[in-house]
Amino acid sequence: MPAVFFTNGGIDSGLPSYFVMCITLNFLFMEGLACVALTFSFVMLIIFCYYLNYSYPSLFAELSVFQRYVDSVQSFLIAGFMTGFVIKLLSRMYHMEKTKAEKANRAKSEFLAQMSHEIRTPMNAIIGMTALAKSASERERKDYCLEKIEGASIHLLGVINDILDMSKIEANKLELSFTAFSFGKMIKKVVNVVDFRFKEKNQDFSQDIEAGIPDFLIGDEQRLSQVITNLLSNAVKFTPNGGHIGLSARLREISADECVIEITVSDTGIGISPEQQSRLFESFVQADGSTSRKYGGTGLGLAISKRIVTMMAGKIWIDSELGKGAKFTFTIKAGIAREEKGEHG
Ligand code: ADP
Repeated sequence: MPAVFFTNGGIDSGLPSYFVMCITLNFLFMEGLACVALTFSFVMLIIFCYYLNYSYPSLFAELSVFQRYVDSVQSFLIAGFMTGFVIKLLSRMYHMEKTKAEKANRAKSEFLAQMSHEIRTPMNAIIGMTALAKSASERERKDYCLEKIEGASIHLLGVINDILDMSKIEANKLELSFTAFSFGKMIKKVVNVVDFRFKEKNQDFSQDIEAGIPDFLIGDEQRLSQVITNLLSNAVKFTPNGGHIGLSARLREISADECVIEITVSDTGIGISPEQQSRLFESFVQADGSTSRKYGGTGLGLAISKRIVTMMAGKIWIDSELGKGAKFTFTIKAGIAREEKGEHG
């Protein structure tokens, strides 16, 4: 079987096979400039041998004399080639795993540093404002301090909730609890929670909920609200004053007891570049370091949202261009509640 490379002896059948093998081995074991240089040398050598073969045919005819020795060398080379290939493949896989683990480790260290900052800032505000409130004599000043304390505490609770959710996800312990709920009321509640932030930043908000969506669904209302709230909060955070934010919901599929709903949150904010988009839904990742310094945040919200959406048999994706706003869309599959089937609109 190895003799297939050397059917007639001479250059036409034998040597090119060896050159091809050498070039392949070179690609497997060499990297960068060395690989280019060696490949170039092999190709030049082939051309040179062909030149010799046609100019001095008698020279290569001699090769057939060595054929039987060459057969055993050939088997040896093939075995070596296969072993080399397997070793290279395993080492590449090991290298990839190692790089992945190192990257995850680095992201976690950065996350810890960022988290300490995210926790310390509201804590400092709470302690500082409490001291001010204690020493303030006028009622108005005390109220002002209490309001700031409330804001900082809510923010801190959000950070802690994100961390707890993430640790549940990492331990594979995040679970959904399914109950019947009104989709329309859930949307209203979510919008009420973020509404004051639209007003604070003078942002224009519009909502478009398709009338055909069954109002009474079976699903995890609290987790669904969490995803929409996270997307709306990000939209507010990354959109300048006076910008526009939209929320829409469409019915994508419906059967007797299930439906697929597609929810979109769009904004006219800072947008996200294609390179940053590819990493956004990974845990502990923010678009870039300057984003976290300027806007704060844990970099956990989208990773948690993705996990929740996946558990609801849906998908989440983003369409965005840097500087031109962002559009986050996700789908979920929900049951239709039997008792109170109806529509809102
Ligand atoms: P956080 O907002 O707490 O940092 P997220 O996981 O919710 O964490 O978001 C991760 C990153 O994605 C943000 O830091 C930001 O860089 C980017 N991002 C999310 N939503 C938007 C948006 N609407 N516009 C621009 N960038 C966004």
